[in-house]
Amino acid sequence: MSLSRWSPQTASFPVRTHRSRYDAVVVGTGPGGLAAAVLLARHGLSVAVFEGQDTVGGGMRSAELTLPGFVHDVCSAIHPMGVASPWFRQLPLERFGLEWITPPAALAHPLEGRAVLLEGSVEHTARTLGADAARYRTLMGPLSERWQSLVPELLQPLLHLPRDLPGLVRFGLPALLPARALAGAFRTPEARALLAGLAGHTVMPLEAPATGAITLMLGLIGHAVGWPLPRGGSQAIADALAGYLRFLGGEIYTGAPVADLTELPPARAVLLDLVPRGALKVLGHRLPSAYARQLEAYRHGAGVFKVDYALSAPVPWASPEVARAGTVHLGGSLEEIARSEREVGLGRAPERPYVLVAQQSLFDDTRAPDGKHTLWAYCHVPGGFAGDLTERIEAQIERFAPGFRDTVLARRATTAPAFEAYNPNYVGGDVNGGSSDLWQLLARPTLSAVPYRTPLPGVYLCSAATPPGGGVHGMGGYHAARHALRDVFGMRPRNWPLR
Ligand SMILES: Cc1cc2nc3c(=O)[nH]c(=O)nc-3n(C[C@H](O)[C@H](O)[C@H](O)COP(=O)(O)OP(=O)(O)OC[C@H]3O[C@@H](n4cnc5c(N)ncnc54)[C@H](O)[C@@H]3O)c2cc1C
Repeated sequence: MSLSRWSPQTASFPVRTHRSRYDAVVVGTGPGGLAAAVLLARHGLSVAVFEGQDTVGGGMRSAELTLPGFVHDVCSAIHPMGVASPWFRQLPLERFGLEWITPPAALAHPLEGRAVLLEGSVEHTARTLGADAARYRTLMGPLSERWQSLVPELLQPLLHLPRDLPGLVRFGLPALLPARALAGAFRTPEARALLAGLAGHTVMPLEAPATGAITLMLGLIGHAVGWPLPRGGSQAIADALAGYLRFLGGEIYTGAPVADLTELPPARAVLLDLVPRGALKVLGHRLPSAYARQLEAYRHGAGVFKVDYALSAPVPWASPEVARAGTVHLGGSLEEIARSEREVGLGRAPERPYVLVAQQSLFDDTRAPDGKHTLWAYCHVPGGFAGDLTERIEAQIERFAPGFRDTVLARRATTAPAFEAYNPNYVGGDVNGGSSDLWQLLARPTLSAVPYRTPLPGVYLCSAATPPGGGVHGMGGYHAARHALRDVFGMRPRNWPLR
């Protein structure tokens, strides 16, 4: 394995040579891997991270995908869980270049002739929902008020001793419902559509049990802290984590794909930011067969098809207030969105896809040349689906922004298999590290009180295939590293209060 030393242009830390042994090594620089490495290094341990690609970041990379000067988020774009992450909130990432930009509204959901927005406060949002105002207040108000105690509960394994039991009960009852039932309890098309759009982030049919959980969590975080984006692109989150890790003495080696455990330098702990399929390859025959079989049985969910645009002007939304939000949910009514996600669940490409859009350049002028804009849009497709849905995505954007096509300077499409080729963790284009069905909410990736541990002493998993699952929040890495500290190093993890 050739190890090229990582040296960002901004690095002012001494670059060390690759040592012969470390306290801990981490494979993968996704949010889970970097978050784990930072926690271990903060406890004074020597840590090295090995990344297969030539840059750090996993799902947090940005690049000029279309034209020079247009910076696109290759994967993640909008970070409610990043800004609410109890672990990221403990880290001085701002000192390493991370600046969150919070658009005035978390999200906009256009409907024919109007739009509904998830505003900063529950009250503001409720007032736009007419006959559903009181119902919305009752559902979201108490949850968003106690977000600081609730979010740490939600971003850890389901089976744990709760610190905010009343909050969890209040959350858990509606969360266990299928999102379709949760949204269907509202009467106005606006409220029903707003909740359906949130539910679409589960990447599951809206009729599936417990899809209410992610729906509610994303809504309450939106009210609590907004849905922000990092200035300069998602790469800024990765660079800040990597910069802080190096500041703590950690080392990062890129261009270093790890095919087998023996390729790593000796270390007392190994943390893998890999989904089960990747872990099976790296750990291979060393795993007890019963555990290996459980990893083999782990299920991946639907994939994504994405289009990145370079635009000559902002998107000409028919409802101008849509421009107040960083995220736009395009899919129309609850029924339409439910149909789109159901089709994906049945293994079909949706005729009228539910499209998730981010318009970062409206709020961050580093993303495009003066007066020009970027747009990030994707929809869900069956796992491994290799077809091109650009036309269908554009039809949905045109539906709510007539004249959109005239603003397109360049576009670049990425299919589900292309996402897997880009990052082996995205099996079949599944960007959440595995299906979030009810069983895998509980058993992620296996049913265990400590799902981060593998049966191999000192070897842990810390990717989105561990609790709490997909997204840029680093909490899988945080929990895995805390267990490694106790098990391997006999250290009591320092308890930086989670907030
Ligand atoms: C199109 C798209 C949109 C998304 N939108 C959002 C969003 O807006 N907000 C959000 O929070 N999340 C979003 N996500 C999801 C988010 O990016 C992922 O859930 C998250 O990055 C998973 O983190 P992870 O720690 O599992 O590792 P990953 O981010 O998957 O990173 C794993 C890293 O390990 C490396 N690697 C893999 N195998 C090896 C090996 N054998 N040797 C060495 N290195 C290896 C990979 O190259 C990669 O860099 C999106 C993802 C995609 C693709």
